[in-house]
Amino acid sequence: MLIDAFQRTISYLRISVTDRCDFRCTYCMADRMQFLPRHDILSLEEIERIARAFVSLGVRKIRITGGEPLVRQGVIPLLGQIARLPGLDTLALTTNGSQLAQQAVALRDAGVRELNISLDSLRADRFHAMTRTGELAPVLQGIDAACRAGFGRIRLNSVILKGQNDDEIADLVAFALEQGVDIAFIEEMPLGDIGRDRQAAFLPSHAIRQTLEQHWELIPATDQTGGPARYYRIAGHRSRIGFISPHSENFCSQCNRVRVTAQGRLLLCLGNEHSVDLKSILRDAPAAPDALEQAIRSAMALKPERHHFNLAEPVQILRFMNSTGG
Ligand code: SAM
Ligand code: SF4
Repeated sequence: MLIDAFQRTISYLRISVTDRCDFRCTYCMADRMQFLPRHDILSLEEIERIARAFVSLGVRKIRITGGEPLVRQGVIPLLGQIARLPGLDTLALTTNGSQLAQQAVALRDAGVRELNISLDSLRADRFHAMTRTGELAPVLQGIDAACRAGFGRIRLNSVILKGQNDDEIADLVAFALEQGVDIAFIEEMPLGDIGRDRQAAFLPSHAIRQTLEQHWELIPATDQTGGPARYYRIAGHRSRIGFISPHSENFCSQCNRVRVTAQGRLLLCLGNEHSVDLKSILRDAPAAPDALEQAIRSAMALKPERHHFNLAEPVQILRFMNSTGG
């Protein structure tokens, strides 16, 4: 088992399989992004090797993310390999939904059980403005295809920004209820310099809850997932309404996860730079038995107690969310 210095058991790994994306969401990326050269990115074989090492050390859930994971060539066979790792309970994926209409069935067949789909607006013009390059219609078709494909659990992820999409909070929930899927509202995190003041657009989770309470009674859910989201239910509906509140309701003491970036850096905390370069270990000593597992075990001592996000300060973490893996 992987246990850190604060007695937290690490059972959940997120892997960013690419920093590239077909969208350029304004809160995730800068206007002009420089993507990593291909040789800097983990190969599919290296990703599988890393996933296998983590599962052998007690990780029970893996989420594949990015960038946009579905733009990575060969991702479906990779998902199949990871899903079959003995000991893994859940394979999950986070996507912007742009390719889901074509890929939903293949993802389910590969063994993906849980899907998070990002959706910040139901208005085509606004969706395009917030993603800079994205189109709403294919994403809605993708959500529909995913619902029909029969995943164990589907959740929409929405980042609400004051003055941009805060008038759609109730519409997004009504859409989730109609589709019978969960929805989580995520407070924007200060990762990377995106060229605007994040504090000015910040909307805390309790403000979103207040807006929703004008429409529905939110009943705290008894079946929390163990993750950072605090869930609520609405009588008569299957959907859960979640709030991920890194600023307003710190959840670091419950943290059970680590991340591997597209570059192969094991990142111990989203809001700190403590990391270990797993790619070098794989490439410099490919035959060394257990070197990877040893490095992962030792890295646990580096996991910080908590993040120190502060929207009032200049950006502290220069890496963008797309290379980190959200
Ligand atoms: N491209 C996929 C997608 O958009 O779902 C997967 C990667 S994306 C980085 C994962 C999640 O991170 C998305 O739900 C996105 O809304 C969220 N995200 C991106 N940048 C963020 C930020 N600065 N603060 C909070 N959430 C962010
Ligand atoms: Fe791409 Fe996802 Fe970042 Fe949007 S949030 S730019 S879809 S990686």
